[in-house]
Amino acid sequence: MSIMDGFTGNIDNYVNAPRRSGGKWVPHFLVEFDKENCISCGRCIKVCPGGVYMFEDNGDKMIVRIENLDNCIGDTCCEKVCPKNKTMHLHKFSPLTKN
Ligand code: SF4
Ligand code: SF4
Repeated sequence: MSIMDGFTGNIDNYVNAPRRSGGKWVPHFLVEFDKENCISCGRCIKVCPGGVYMFEDNGDKMIVRIENLDNCIGDTCCEKVCPKNKTMHLHKFSPLTKN
């Protein structure tokens, strides 16, 4: 199941909605994140509206991994709350490419 299930009409109405300033908002979808430098604080799990990230029990501790990349809606909230982004960018995004 995709987070886009049930959406109808022109996709531009959803993915290029206008900002208050009048400019177009363009989503940037998560491509991957730097698992090696992640401290598994779980903030990205809390804010992600798509349930993209999950905790995984690796035996010693709970670590964060990507579970449902296809559910990303491109809001980049995970990047904004990530404490590691003050020193390094763990998240890599790509703007929407249409078929
Ligand atoms: S960009 Fe938004 S929807 Fe995508 S993984 Fe990050 S928080 Fe989740
Ligand atoms: S917010 Fe950043 S450091 Fe925290 S679990 Fe997510 S990717 Fe890892």
